[in-house]
Amino acid sequence: MSMMASSTSAITPTTSLTFARICQRVLILGRAAARSTRTARAAPSVTFRPRHFHRSSAMLIPMETWYDMHCHLGFAPDPAATARAGAHVGIGAFSCTVSPEEYERIAPLMADGTTVAVGLGAHPWQIADGSVGSDALVRFCELAAATAFIGEVGLDFAGPRDGNESRAVQTAALQRILAACDDGAPKLISLHAVNAAGTVLDLLEAAGTARRHCCIFHWFSGTSDDLTRALADGCYFSVGPRMLVSRRGREYARQIPLDRLLLETDMPSRAGETLPANVWQAELGNALSGIAQLKAIDRTLLAERLATTSAALLGTEQAPLPRARNFRL
Ligand SMILES: [Zn+2]
Repeated sequence: MSMMASSTSAITPTTSLTFARICQRVLILGRAAARSTRTARAAPSVTFRPRHFHRSSAMLIPMETWYDMHCHLGFAPDPAATARAGAHVGIGAFSCTVSPEEYERIAPLMADGTTVAVGLGAHPWQIADGSVGSDALVRFCELAAATAFIGEVGLDFAGPRDGNESRAVQTAALQRILAACDDGAPKLISLHAVNAAGTVLDLLEAAGTARRHCCIFHWFSGTSDDLTRALADGCYFSVGPRMLVSRRGREYARQIPLDRLLLETDMPSRAGETLPANVWQAELGNALSGIAQLKAIDRTLLAERLATTSAALLGTEQAPLPRARNFRL
């Protein structure tokens, strides 16, 4: 709760107005894109105003700003140092957690002096193996009311998690999680969906989540119909080098409208793994280069465009504006 008070008071009226303008611009762009892809569904109608993004007044933006919109700094041995090193080279991030316990450990470390928003997570792997059990879900629901950032949450129906029991446990947990997000304020939600994009979309639509919040599919791997449906629902997509390895991933990255695209690394991959700033930059740079090539777009313009969308979703006004306002998709 003390985090909530300090971050809210850090946002001045001037920056709040700027946030509102940026958010409004992105939502207008998002609605236009949604209208172009949807059939009968209504456009998202939220005005996203993040409450808890901790910004550093000392952060310097010496070059292009890149935003990693799905990473796991909590896995790094020193998450705060990793975040500071990233900020030093112009990287901001939406860092996901896999459990409420990890969130409560990591969020205070990022509360001051970093450019990382920390998501409250309950990863489907941890739900499936029982390490995020009913007590942890209760804690998740308590914490959800005090943050605008949720992730990583979702469903994974692959391999050992493909049984009826696991599917039922995960689905019930995600229903509770989505219900807990509905405290009246829009949130940014990073979603994991493996062999389960259709079911995740069923739940998002049934709960009204897609309408009330900004949803990001991380490393989208659903069907082409799922992609069309998620676009019509107003969802965003974070794309990293690993998604671009597969032909289908590259085709999806080519098809997703620019104003729904974000970058991700999903790194570090496991607990104890480091993420040096130069490696972080290289991973994001690889994703940028791959997407620029697929879309036949100038890489710098692409970086600026993705940064503008990311900044609006995260609630920082520090991203540069596109140089050429009239360049086309
Ligand atoms: Zn992840």
